[in-house]
Amino acid sequence: MQSDRISDIWGTRTPHTAGSPWPKRVDQFLLDGIGEADVEKWVRGACLLCSNGCGLEVAVRDGRMVGVRGRAEDRINHGRLGPKGLYGWQGEQRDRLTTPLIREEGRLIETDWDTAMGRVVERSRALLDTKGPLSHAFYTSGQLTIEEYYTLAVIGKGGIGTPHMDGNTRLCTATAAAAFQESFGTDGQPGSYTDIDHCDALFLFGHNVAETQSVLWARMLDRLDATEPPRLVCADPRRTKVAERATVHLPIRNGTNLALMNALVHELIAKGWVDTNYVDTHTVGFDQLDQRTRETTPEWAAEICGVPARDIEAAAEIFGSSSRVVSTCSMGFYQSHQATAAACQVNNLHLLRGMLGRPGAGILQMNGQPSAQNNREAGCGPALPGFRNWENPHHVRELAELWNVDPIVIPHWAAPTDSNTIFRYAEQGSVGFLWIAATNPAVSMPDLARIRRILSGDQCFVVVSDGYRTETTELADVVLPAALWAEKTGTFTNVDRTVHLQEKAVEPPGQARGDMEIFVDYARLMGLTDKENHPLPSWDTPKQAFEAWKAASAGRPCDYTGLSYEKLHEVGGIQWPCTSATPDGSERLYTNGQFNTNPDICESYGHDLATGAPVGQDTYLAQGADGRAILKTTAYEPPFEEPDAAYPLRFTTGRTLYHWHTRTKTSRSPQLNDAAPSMWVEISEPDAQRLGISEGDIVRVTSRRGSIQAPARISHTREGVVFAPWHYGGTDTAANELTVTGWDPVSKQPEFKVAAVALQRISAGHGPAPAPTTTASAPVRPLDGTAQK
Ligand code: SF4
Repeated sequence: MQSDRISDIWGTRTPHTAGSPWPKRVDQFLLDGIGEADVEKWVRGACLLCSNGCGLEVAVRDGRMVGVRGRAEDRINHGRLGPKGLYGWQGEQRDRLTTPLIREEGRLIETDWDTAMGRVVERSRALLDTKGPLSHAFYTSGQLTIEEYYTLAVIGKGGIGTPHMDGNTRLCTATAAAAFQESFGTDGQPGSYTDIDHCDALFLFGHNVAETQSVLWARMLDRLDATEPPRLVCADPRRTKVAERATVHLPIRNGTNLALMNALVHELIAKGWVDTNYVDTHTVGFDQLDQRTRETTPEWAAEICGVPARDIEAAAEIFGSSSRVVSTCSMGFYQSHQATAAACQVNNLHLLRGMLGRPGAGILQMNGQPSAQNNREAGCGPALPGFRNWENPHHVRELAELWNVDPIVIPHWAAPTDSNTIFRYAEQGSVGFLWIAATNPAVSMPDLARIRRILSGDQCFVVVSDGYRTETTELADVVLPAALWAEKTGTFTNVDRTVHLQEKAVEPPGQARGDMEIFVDYARLMGLTDKENHPLPSWDTPKQAFEAWKAASAGRPCDYTGLSYEKLHEVGGIQWPCTSATPDGSERLYTNGQFNTNPDICESYGHDLATGAPVGQDTYLAQGADGRAILKTTAYEPPFEEPDAAYPLRFTTGRTLYHWHTRTKTSRSPQLNDAAPSMWVEISEPDAQRLGISEGDIVRVTSRRGSIQAPARISHTREGVVFAPWHYGGTDTAANELTVTGWDPVSKQPEFKVAAVALQRISAGHGPAPAPTTTASAPVRPLDGTAQK
């Protein structure tokens, strides 16, 4: 049966009580005129349009995708699919990049692979010979497969020898990784989605799950609509669908997360809601945490956050009186100036209450993208593969042996480079070769005018591999057409460590090739070899790459050695670590209270959360964690830019339900595009009245860096806050024309949630703003003037 997930976003409720299994419900969509009998084959895989990773099957007829349906037996979605999963795949069959392009006399012209790769290799080789590996940088994505990330990690770190590798995961999930490393020693999600089925309280910190992972919200709704539902606490400056269901909604000023978190921790300690036995046995740092939060009372935080102290107390009381709490944390916390400190405080709440490693008690530091986790674990970003510590010579030696290269080739003399710094080096020209794969920084990075200058300048040769022409390809020197999703085979891992295998369903269009094939071709043409002159990497196929990755993960926290393509095909999603001892995977981490803080295991020796300065091995050893979690925080500081007389409002960016990232796929899906076709900005009703703005009026939003124009939606955002979706490009509409160049000192995740702006009405619009009415963007008042429910 066809499902409608545009107006009926979360579908029919299937309520269930705590501890009972989440019922199945299979969602399906086939193109008009296609019935089930017309489908020639169903190919297994998972949705690649958010970090949920819902299991699905792709319907194929005449060599083309004609539909999808959820996999009922998959542990992530039990058959459900949201709007993007159900309709987004259609975008892969439209307007694709089908031939390589090279720049000639300022214009991109079509060419063949030999010419395009010849130009890439010529420039790469010349720079490598004259300036060495630090002239090279690779900026990737959260949407490639493990096989692709690991292949590029070996090329970049074992072949070229550059530390300049990062992903756009820096924008979405770097804080999750950083907070796990600071608190638990290594990256890796402690909790499981099944914790939602058991919990008695849900805390969502800066996480509009109803739009960003709609199937996960359906799972939560099915608990909320059953008897004895969990209590729900939501921290978000907008009245989202989550906030509407909350027991306590904390619409804090954007930029004040850490003040709220320090107050919640204060309350747990002050009220004695602490599992002292767990804290004494399994943590270090309690005295410092207590001292740092002694003055951070709810009254103190209320002033900063702009919410009543009694609401902060009520939220703390729910945490303190529940025995099974699930906390989630997402971009509202991550894309801010004290992101790691705030996310660590979420970890601390659970450590103080001893709520980890058992059903219903878990943390989900969300990822933004479907395979962000893989970029982190495979070492394609600023980390070594398998959560290895670049400061640990033993870890570096392990990799050198795996790759049969000299350890000195592997960059470990300084911290790996984050994307903010990579773009700075490209701006200066010390990085003269930048390869961008599967991402569109000309829309997604902050302060876009600067990013355009960097990418279009002569100081850096830019290669882009992508499935479409984008704002970024238009600035490149060479563009390589890439295969997408069901056009190739590979694995990816979702936010709760669930690994899925996507099997190739259809051929890529034209001359497009899988990213792994492109990377291997580059390595072969560059003549990259190991110590014995064998080709590096040593593999050519995705399955060979997966086996190589399994070997790299062996014995590390993200151990994949018990997985195989065959097993993933049969079962669907399986959670790592999966070994011969745990062949069905591992539902939760830290079930015995043993953390990865042993100095031989840890991924990092940690940082000062205020400054980002590395703690260093000696100090790390001195704190004696050695298997115990580390309770860390720092003092609240105001954001980089606060409202003032010239720019009196707080600007924040975010996502909308119907689009994914810079809309390369979702704008080409008719259902999704029609649901949110063009840019808008959201303001509160009091601000609209003060500024004489009506629904749909064209407004100009101006910051110190640029300005945009768009129709205004008068929504339930907090007074004094202007919200804009960041999906839409265009120099006079893209939200990131306004954002600041600034980042969290530890995770280096950019600040997207606070910029000071001014707002001005330009003219009357042509009807209501093109914003959804079904989501947090719903108008305060419908067009007939009555109050919106
Ligand atoms: S929730 Fe995410 S993974 Fe699941 S169908 Fe929607 S976009 Fe795809």
